Amino acid sequence: MSGDQGESLDFETAMERFDPVFGIEVHVELNTATKMFCGCATTFGAPPNTHVCPVCLGLPGAMPTVNEKAIESAIRLGLALNCSVARSSRFARKNYFYPDVSKDYQISQYDEPIDYDGYLDVELADGTAVRVDIERAHMEEDAAKLSHVGGQTGRIHGADYSLVDYNRGGTPLIEIVTKPVEGMGPRTPEVARAYVAALRELVVALGISDARMEQGSIRADVNVSLRPRAKAGADQRAVPFGKRTETKNVNSLRAIERAVRYEIERQATLLAGGERVVQETRHFHEDTGRTTAGRSKEEAEDSRYFPEPDLLPVVPAPEWVESLRATLPEPPAERRRRLQSEWAFTETEMRDVGAAGALDAIAATVAAGASPAGARKWWLGELARAANERGIELADLPVAPKDVAELDKLVADGRLTDKLARQVLAGTLAGEGSPSAVAGARGLAVVSDDGALTAAVDAALGANPDIAAKIRGGKVAAAGAIVGAVMKATRGQADAARVRELVLERVTQAPSAGPPSA
Ligand code: ADP
Ligand code: MG
Ligand code: ZN
Repeated sequence: MSGDQGESLDFETAMERFDPVFGIEVHVELNTATKMFCGCATTFGAPPNTHVCPVCLGLPGAMPTVNEKAIESAIRLGLALNCSVARSSRFARKNYFYPDVSKDYQISQYDEPIDYDGYLDVELADGTAVRVDIERAHMEEDAAKLSHVGGQTGRIHGADYSLVDYNRGGTPLIEIVTKPVEGMGPRTPEVARAYVAALRELVVALGISDARMEQGSIRADVNVSLRPRAKAGADQRAVPFGKRTETKNVNSLRAIERAVRYEIERQATLLAGGERVVQETRHFHEDTGRTTAGRSKEEAEDSRYFPEPDLLPVVPAPEWVESLRATLPEPPAERRRRLQSEWAFTETEMRDVGAAGALDAIAATVAAGASPAGARKWWLGELARAANERGIELADLPVAPKDVAELDKLVADGRLTDKLARQVLAGTLAGEGSPSAVAGARGLAVVSDDGALTAAVDAALGANPDIAAKIRGGKVAAAGAIVGAVMKATRGQADAARVRELVLERVTQAPSAGPPSA
């Protein structure tokens, strides 16, 4: 009765019969230089177990101290999420036995989180606004990274052995927990995704995390439950919530939407068949789009939370909190609207920019002097293609916004054609230097010098006397063929508009081209 196989209810039918509720817990790994309670570096990718010390390993007698920068980030995030910042909050020990915490407990916050009662306004693709209420945001330390070796799935089941890397253990995290979100109906998967997208965007704007979902610096646990649809006229909100499942560590926006949708269908199938939903954690599988059962959900009391005796409560001075409020960035949605109007982009153009994750790149390119339309063209065209081919983000391409602005200017000044500019950009991407350097080194430049162009035009006319005669006879359209021949002869470096003018001029002048027609 796993509901993992068999006839499943489709989404539409599920929606007719049930009302979905979701809640999301997002873990954000902070980009502080050091860990939450010790001075170990948080650098990613170091050899295993080299960034550890008695504190993060939990050796006897080692005493933790709180990372002030992490507290600052937690307060700034809380303020940006419209939360209240606690006058006093406390760390707590969450006790459990598993090799990913060598102390046998994780230091977290429990009943006294640093931020509570906030909200985040989320915009759906069609512009609909949804307010997601935030229950709390609390600080904690990350666990170590386990690698299960030898199995099919990378999970512990079926593995031959497991390795543990304590470098990650003790990295500062903020966990943001929503209140249950109800009443979204068939848009539930989309809202879940849009919420995490908006939260991620906020974290980026605050500059408190790398915010890379694929690398795990943002991880989402997605809780989903169904309850029966209320009878017509009755209040849906009066129907109690159903049992929830918690799909752990979903690591892309698309996967969030898929996981929620799948859980809705799976639970609906169970409930429609008279079975029950088991409260448990589940895992989402990217390849099949399904979730499978993990461990059955332990209750909070299993963790025997108690106040961390080695740390004082966190009591931020109100003046400090207010001074941090002054550092908050412009809310991302407002910034988007402002930039759209400054750049005169249409809704569709702006949506494409957002979908390509190119907003910041374009903003930086415009700030470096490019036209908004030019910046958009390069980042959504050639550069998006290059990033896609390499399987990386736009920001990770080896090209800076100022390079793109330089390229845009070379085109605007008529020194490069579009085609030449693409070759120049390829050079810059290949590490050959700035666009001007590449253009210089590769000898790429628009030839607009009349002397050189006239010679090329005459040669092309001479080589194609029949076309020359047609043009002379009034078939001006035939000039295109000569322009094409000149472009080819100059390897695309001629100024095409000037070439066309010259063709029409020369056809009536060039002695070799016969007498004028008029
Ligand atoms: P846990 O510690 O068990 O993960 P939390 O309180 O940290 O519990 O988070 C639970 C998340 O699940 C919250 O986002 C909450 O809004 C959401 N949630 C609680 N009950 C339900 C439910 N019946 N259906 C869907 N989501 C729920
Ligand atoms: Mg939780
Ligand atoms: Zn340490």
